[in-house]
Order: sequence, then structure tokens, then C-alpha cells
Amino acid sequence: TEWPAARVRKTFFDFFNERDHTVVPSGPVVPVNDPSLLFTNAGMNQFKPIFLGTVEKSHPFADLKRAVDSQKVIRAGGKHNDLDDVGKDSYHHTFFEMLGNWSFGDYFKEGIIEMSWDLLTRVYGLDPTRLYVTYFEGNPELGLEPDNEAKNFWRKIGVPDSRILPGNMKDNFWEMGETGPCGPCSEIHYDKIGGRDAASLVNMDDPMVIEIWNLVFIQYDRQADKSLKPLPAQHVDTGLGYERLVAVLQDAPSNYATDCWTPLFAKIQEVTGARPYTDKYEKDDVDGIDMAYRVVADHIRTLSFAIVDGAVPNNDGRGYVVRRVLRRGVRYGRKYLGAEIGQFFSSILPALVEQKGEEFPELIKKQQDLKEILDEEEDAFARTLDRGEVQFEKYAAAEAKAGSKKLAGDLVWRLYDTFGFPVDLTKLMAEERGLEIDEAEVEAAKQKAKEASKVVKESVQEFPKLDVHRIAELDSQLKVARTDDEPKF
Ligand code: ATP
Ligand code: MG
Ligand code: MG
Ligand code: MG
Repeated sequence: TEWPAARVRKTFFDFFNERDHTVVPSGPVVPVNDPSLLFTNAGMNQFKPIFLGTVEKSHPFADLKRAVDSQKVIRAGGKHNDLDDVGKDSYHHTFFEMLGNWSFGDYFKEGIIEMSWDLLTRVYGLDPTRLYVTYFEGNPELGLEPDNEAKNFWRKIGVPDSRILPGNMKDNFWEMGETGPCGPCSEIHYDKIGGRDAASLVNMDDPMVIEIWNLVFIQYDRQADKSLKPLPAQHVDTGLGYERLVAVLQDAPSNYATDCWTPLFAKIQEVTGARPYTDKYEKDDVDGIDMAYRVVADHIRTLSFAIVDGAVPNNDGRGYVVRRVLRRGVRYGRKYLGAEIGQFFSSILPALVEQKGEEFPELIKKQQDLKEILDEEEDAFARTLDRGEVQFEKYAAAEAKAGSKKLAGDLVWRLYDTFGFPVDLTKLMAEERGLEIDEAEVEAAKQKAKEASKVVKESVQEFPKLDVHRIAELDSQLKVARTDDEPKF
């Protein structure tokens, strides 16, 4: 291919670097000093203080006007959570690289619309008739005007009206989280089929029409009371899905049919001896093996980058995301690929380090620690996985026998509580058996279990404090009594 993945990334850096953007390293995927975020979910996260005008004078970003990077992103929890799509569709990963460029109070809508169009159509050579762009349609309730400015700049650059589409709050107003910098955006979509040149002929939700780049015009700070406060300056923040762009440039039907993934699949195959990956989905993926390849390959990336940046598997927040991801991956690996559990994830690790170590040297530096954490966590789950699966089968069979289409909430909770099966894993397993899970029911079972354990704890607390002298006294009385009662022979 003319566009190996590494060249795609480098071309992006070079293009913006030639236009006065400083190449900066990715921020960590575990955010620093930002408890509002589970994981870094976009490139803009590390620049938040610049947007808010709170960046310290001594900070290396203090005088930054333009920047470009490839940000490590995890979307497996919080406002942006794609975990449920992973393995099922061809373009959502829990870990991905987000290429991005920024203007901090420098160029605005016109500048980025011109540059992005030039990069995509001239430098990367994409067929302009396959590109669709969107703009924010406005929201009268919030007093937000339609973004006709962006619309007109797209027209000016030569995009016909038939390929400029309005979009709502959900798609065209980008927000990092419940609070923080935000603003209207323009998205660029690519039609992988082509030859139809009008939005009316294209279903924008079709996986063959894929969102590749989001240009966000940062001008507000969302407050805790939901209101939008204008920022002191206007900024540009863009996010371009690296794996998606690579797929487009390699003319691949799916992100997974590119060299972003083939080295990982090859390693998984070598380790498990499973049949090779064939990029089939849903019903076409008859034996479920392709889905398992995708889940495992996606999850090793998420686990590795999360752990290397300081997240450790445990039972709350961030740590629980890591734990859930690992358990899900382990289960898929074993069930569909026949992987031996114990050091499965760490055995795939070398392929990832080789592929991404140059761009992200922390992988190389911390490889040994990472391996140990992965192995320990995998080992812990290996001990309950078997019994949990057996128990699950029993529950599922009982539900089926009773003619139920649902796996009862208290059973789901029991699998969690006793065998450490994350609810989302049980949900996937239930789906395989045609059973649904009612999240509210699970929540209720959880609350009930919590109440019950509270009662136990309270009764423990009510027990009188132990007094050693009193115990000794009671003890000796007891002994006396016992001696007295003892039958004499
Ligand atoms: P989608 O609508 O496809 O879920 P998004 O609108 O949530 O994407 P943005 O928040 O706009 O995505 O992120 C910027 C870019 O990052 C997207 O245009 C896309 O190319 C890429 N991207 C987003 N989510 C993922 C993901 N889960 N895996 C891979 N790339 C992604
Ligand atoms: Mg999304
Ligand atoms: Mg979108
Ligand atoms: Mg988007």
C-alpha cells in the first residue's frame, strides 16, 4: 500500500508542522489532575487549561499558539464510552489514536476548514466527491444560532450544498464531559462506496460512510449549572481518527483490515493456534472467532496504555474499567480462540510494543511492570472464570427452560459478586444465548445486596466491645461450671 499506517501519521505531523504547529507528545491516557475524567477521551484534554485561560506562565504550553499531536485516547467509560461497540462494528475501538491540531486563540473556522480540506483532498489525495461535511444546526432553547459561518466556509472551498449537512446537539456540539470547554463542530465523513455524490443517496449511519474528522470551534465553558459561559478567546480543536483514516487511505472495508491491526492478529494467531482473521461481522462471523480477535486485539491496546500510564486494575472507577476490559478479553480469548489463560495478554504484548514502541516509548520502558500486572490480574480471574462459566450456563439453561427471555438481575449480580464477572461481560454472554439483561433489575439486586451487607456490618458494630478482663472472668466461671458438671467416674 501507498499509505502504511506510519506514513499516514507522519504526513499529518509534517503538514501541520509546515504550517507553524509545534509537534507535542501525546498527553497520558490517565488524566493528570482532572477527576472529572476517567480517561483521556480526546486530544483536547491536555490543553484544557489553555482554553480556560488558567495555564501557568511557567508551563511549556504557556505560549503555544498552534500544536499538532497524536493523542492516546480511551473511550471505555464516562461520557464517551464505546466499549459496547467493540468487536461488533468495524470502526469503534476502546483505545485509539486521535490525530489532532490546535489553534489557541489563533486561526479559527476559515483557517481550519481550508487546511483540513487541503490535507485530505490534495495531500492524502481523497476523492472530494466522497467527502461529506456537517455544521451545527443551532439550538433555540439554549439560545444557540445555526453555525452558518462554518457552512459558508465549506461552500467557499467548493463543497456543493448537496454534501453539506446540518447536525444536532448530539453530533455537532462537542463536549468533553459534563463541564469544561466545548463548542459547535463540523464533522467530515467519508463514503467508502462512492459514485453517488449527494447526501440524499447516502445513509450517514451506514458503516460504509464513516466519520473521520471532527473540527471543533471551542468558544464556551460548560458550567456545573449547565449554562454556557463564553471563553476569553476562540480556539480550534480537531480530532481525526487515525485507524479510520488509515482504513480509508488503504481502501480497506474496515479499520481491522489494515496494518494497524494485522501484526496483533498475527501474534494472537501464533499464540492461540486459532484460524486466521477474516474480517467478518455479525451473522457472517459464523463461529465468533473474528469478533474474538477484534476484542482481544482492542483490549490489549487499552490495557497496555492504561496500565503504563498508571491505572491499575481494582474495584473502582478507572481501575474497574481496566479490570472489566481484561476479564472480557480473557473470556473471549479462551472461549473462541482457545487461548490458555494465565499469560495470554502478556504473550501478545511484544507485537504491540514492536508496533507502537517508537511513537510511545513508555511501552518499552515499562514493559516488564506491565507484563507483571497483566499476568497477576489474569491469573486472579483464571481461578473463578471456570466456575463462573459453569454457573452462568446453569442460570441460562434454567431461564431458557422456564421460557424466559431474560437473565434475572439477581443472577447477574451473583455472577459479579461471587465469580467477579463484570456485568457488561455477563450481558454479552447472555446475548449469545438470546437472553436479555435488565440493567435496572441488576441495579436493584446490587442495592439489595448492599443493604444486606450493611445489616451484617451494623450488627457487628452493635456487638459489645470486647473487654479482656470480663472475658477472662466469664471464661473461668465457665470452666468452674464445666468442671462441676463433668461426670465423675
Ligand atoms: P462516532 O460518531 O463515530 O462515535 P464521535 O463523534 O464520537 O465518533 P469524536 O468525539 O468527534 O468522535 O472524535 C473525533 C474522531 O475520533 C472521530 O471523528 C473519529 O474519527 C475518531 N473516533 C471517535 N471514536 C472512535 C473510536 N471509538 N474508535 C476509533 N476512532 C474513533
Ligand atoms: Mg462516538
Ligand atoms: Mg459522531
Ligand atoms: Mg464527532
